[in-house]
This record gives sequence, structure tokens and C-alpha cells, in this order.
Amino acid sequence: MRVLATIAEIRSVCEEARRVGGAVGFVPTMGYFHAGHRSLMEIARRDNDLVVVSHFVNPTQFGPNEDLGAYPRDLERDTSIATAAGVDVMFMPTVAEMYPGGTPHTTVHVADLTEGMCGATRPTHFDGVTTVVAKLFSIIGPCRAYFGRKDFQQLAVVRRMTADLDLPIEVVGCPLVREADGLARSSRNAYLTPAERAAAPQLYAALSGAVALIREGERRAGALVDSIIASVADAPALTLEYVEIRAGDSLVPIDPVRGSFVVALAAKVGRARLIDNVVVGIDGDQVSVDTGVVDAGSDGPSVVVNP
Ligand code: AMP
Repeated sequence: MRVLATIAEIRSVCEEARRVGGAVGFVPTMGYFHAGHRSLMEIARRDNDLVVVSHFVNPTQFGPNEDLGAYPRDLERDTSIATAAGVDVMFMPTVAEMYPGGTPHTTVHVADLTEGMCGATRPTHFDGVTTVVAKLFSIIGPCRAYFGRKDFQQLAVVRRMTADLDLPIEVVGCPLVREADGLARSSRNAYLTPAERAAAPQLYAALSGAVALIREGERRAGALVDSIIASVADAPALTLEYVEIRAGDSLVPIDPVRGSFVVALAAKVGRARLIDNVVVGIDGDQVSVDTGVVDAGSDGPSVVVNP
């Protein structure tokens, strides 16, 4: 695997791959890889000739009091995970390479979809995401780009941006990857103390409880939200930030629940802010549920390497 740090180098590698008829698969990340990242890389490997992973802790998507300085890093382990997943090139620019003039004068803002859910407590977050993803799409060029459904709102926002700006990118949503006890994989799980780690699966348990109610016929959004709040209250280490039920594509709040929708939440667990969701489809009496997949493989060190 090659590691490239400049925009000129990665652009020319991608252009050359397309020139000879190759398909480019692109996985944007902030590093500190786990099984969720690995699954994106493996899906990209399966479907493309050149697989590029970007590894960039993007400062503009962190709020002033968030964990930019503490974001976990382990380049050696990331390199070996990406190599094992068959990645061809890791694009690892410096902040100066991406933002030579400091904070960019041009930003990309997606309206509506960025309101509420994570946007409520992280008001500048999605502009940071869409601006850096638009830059990365421009640098990598026409490709398939792989995003995890764990960040459900982010995936919807990136899809909308790509459609609205007619970007020559096929956005591919990939399954949410969990640990064996249901906790969604996240780089931020590294922040959890053993006691917090033991409590954290209650988030998924609460979502699963709501799914069970839906299967029993509950359709009132408020009752489902209340059941999640009550379930998470059983774990005092967890403080819910939001629980929302929104239509799958438009992210419009829905009540009663119907069609395809997401039940999403965010919670503070010690220093970590964790998100999780399940996607549900109701068609007549039929209820289908996408809770993601389990990959119980090693997640590497459980402590922050560079606090
Ligand atoms: P991050 O490095 O956290 O910015 O994530 C990079 C990509 O990996 C995003 O598309 C995330 O949605 C995806 N990702 C992170 N965690 C998971 C997970 N548990 N399952 C699936 N995809 C994930």
C-alpha cells in the first residue's frame, strides 16, 4: 500500500487508474481504524480496481469544545489494517495541504437534513463534513464512495450534497458494524473506561427494545421514544442527547411510524459521545429491520493512544 500526502499525487494516481479503464473506490475516514472501517474497505475492494482510503482528522468538523486534540491516532495499526483489507493507496494529507489558507472561505452547506439529530448539538459539524467531503470528491474524481450507515444522518447529507451538486460520485451506504454485545464500533469507544464500556451496549439494547415494540404493533413515535429513554435510564453512566424517529430518506420526523424510517440516538458516556441507530421498514403487517452486522474481531487497544 502506498501512502501519499499531496493532492497532486493522489489526483494523478486516480486519473491514471481511470485512464486505463479502472474503477476507483474511495473510503473517507478519520483513521483509528476498527472493523467498521475495515468493512468499508473490503466492500470497496470487492467492487473496484483502485481502492483509496483518506485518513484525515478534519478539524473543521469538530466544535470548539469537542475532542479534536484528543482524537485517537495509531498510524502503524491503521497502515496494517488498511494493507490487510487490500487498500491500494492511503491519502494522508496534512491540515496545511487541505486548508493552505487556514479556515476555508468556501463552505458547502446542506439545508434541512442537517437540522436536528446530531446537528442540534453540533451546529457546525455537518458543514465541516460536507466541505471536506466535497474537497475530497473533487480531489479523487469520479468514483464510488463508501460511507457507513452508523453515521446515518451523515450518509443522508452526503447523498443530498452529491445529488444537488451533480457530483460524478456514486455514494454507497454500507452496513453498521457492531461488537458482539451490540455496541456500534466507533473510534471513540477508545475513550470508554471499563465501567462505561460495560454500560454502553444498553444503547443498542434500548433500540432493540423499541424494535420489539414495533413488531408487537406499536406505531406511536412518542411511545417508542419513551421506551428508549426508560431503557437507557437503567444505565446511569449513559446520558441521552437525543432519540429521534425520522423518515429514512428525507429525515423528516414521522408519527405514527410507517414506511422506511430510522430510530436514531446519541448519548454521552463519560468523555465519549456515541451514536447508534436501527433502520426499520413497515409494509402492511410486515416489519423488516436492519440493525447492521456483528464483527467481533479485535478492535485493537481499548485505551486512547494519544490522549
Ligand atoms: P470516521 O473515521 O469515524 O469518520 O468514519 C469513517 C467512515 O466509517 C464513515 O463512513 C463512517 O460511517 C464509517 N463507520 C464508522 N463506524 C462504523 C461502523 N461501526 N459501522 C460501519 N461504518 C462505520
